[in-house]
This record gives sequence, C-alpha cells and structure tokens, in this order.
Amino acid sequence: CGIVGYIGYRDAYPIIIKGLHRLEYRGYDSAGVALADNGLKVYKKAGKVSDLENFVKDINLSGSAGMGHTRWATHGVPSDRNSHPHSSGDRKLTIIHNGIIENYAVLKEALVAKGHTFKSDTDTEVLIHFIEDIQLATGKNLHEAVRLALNRVVGAYAIVIMSADHPDELIAARKGSPMVIGVGKGEYFIASDATPIVEYTKNVIYLNDNEIAYIKRDDLLIKNIDNTIQEPYIQELELKLEM
Ligand code: GLU
Repeated sequence: CGIVGYIGYRDAYPIIIKGLHRLEYRGYDSAGVALADNGLKVYKKAGKVSDLENFVKDINLSGSAGMGHTRWATHGVPSDRNSHPHSSGDRKLTIIHNGIIENYAVLKEALVAKGHTFKSDTDTEVLIHFIEDIQLATGKNLHEAVRLALNRVVGAYAIVIMSADHPDELIAARKGSPMVIGVGKGEYFIASDATPIVEYTKNVIYLNDNEIAYIKRDDLLIKNIDNTIQEPYIQELELKLEM
C-alpha cells in the first residue's frame, strides 16, 4: 500500500517513519521497516505505524539506507508474519511490495518443490524467493536476477529490494503501481507517492512501468526490464505540502 525508501548520509529510520505517517491517509493494516546496518535489520508489526515505533523504541536503529512499508493485505491475513518486508530463505535479500503478484501460486509451487520454505502467506514473499532462486540457479548478479524475475512476474507491483551483500544500494521497480524517486544531493528518496518526499527535495523522477532503478547515494541507473538503459527524466514537483 505505502512505500518509503531512503539512501544517503542521514539516519534512514526517522525519515522512513515520518514518510510512513505521511502515507497513513491511504489506509493500511500493518507496517514494517528494513535498515542496512551490519547486515539487514527487519522490524514489522500488524497495526499502526505507531505500534511499530513502540515495538522498536528500545532498539538502536542506525543505518543510512532503509525502506518502510504500510500493508493493505491482499494475500494472507493482516498479521506480524504477513507484514512486509519479506526476506529470502538465506535472509540476504528483503523486499517491500505494493500490488499483487498474480502468478504467485504457480511460482510458489515450483519453489516449494525445490526446497524453499515460506514464513508468510503473501504473494510478496514468493517474489523474493524467486529472485534468490534465479541467482542460485544462474549465478547472475542481483541486478540481473531481479530483471529476469520481473520478466516472469504477472501482476501489478511497486517494489523495493535491499541486499545484505550490497547494503549501499536500493533496487526499486514498478509496473502498474506508482513509484517516485526524489533526487537530493548525495541522497535519494523513494515513495509510492510524493507526499513523503516533498519536504526534502522538489526534484523527482516518476518511474515508468517496466523500469528498474538501481539507486546508490551518489548514483542512479534506470533500466527497462528488457535491459535497455533509460535516461532519467527529472521534473520539478508542484505539490504543496499540507501541514
Ligand atoms: N499483495 C501484498 C500483500 O498482500 C501487498 C499488499 C499491499 O499493496 O500492501 O502482502
């Protein structure tokens, strides 16, 4: 339902939580965050963003790359275990997702037959296991594994992926669900609509369908899922922030 991501030089967590609050108007049943801090740290809870904040209040949350999600359940009841982010079996990859993976059941069946075990009832968890499986089966790097997986996914999605092996990068992609990238100086913001971004930068890129953005604090590469490089089109936000 709602997506916020940050990569740069500041602490990601406060930016992500504030962004999730800004997206609360959309409605949701659960919330979660992932932070790159000595590996990937994932915290998630059914309920309000404030329940998540309460849940992590005694934990030292650092990391200057991270992502947050508010979920509107479509596959699997609202619960802690069905909340996003969802991780691969080896916990090296983690994903947040808006939308629906229509062919998740057939993908899941094949993955279970290969020995994957699932911790949630979501369509989303299937996608991150699928990416992990492609990496293992083909030996391709993560960029390629994500691209190949998205070529075989049917449905609508806006996703952000983080990897423990590449903590300095966020990978965002969309098809049918909106995704905005905010361009700062030495930092990037990601969100499912511009409301969480507007207080930091007015320069945004609206990701197009079938595009994947590979985002580092000082570098942005956008590719189509057919592997052609796309020139980012930066536009100025006109949105006014209601305080
Ligand atoms: N289909 C996913 C789920 O049920 C994502 C729902 C959403 O857009 O929040 O977990």
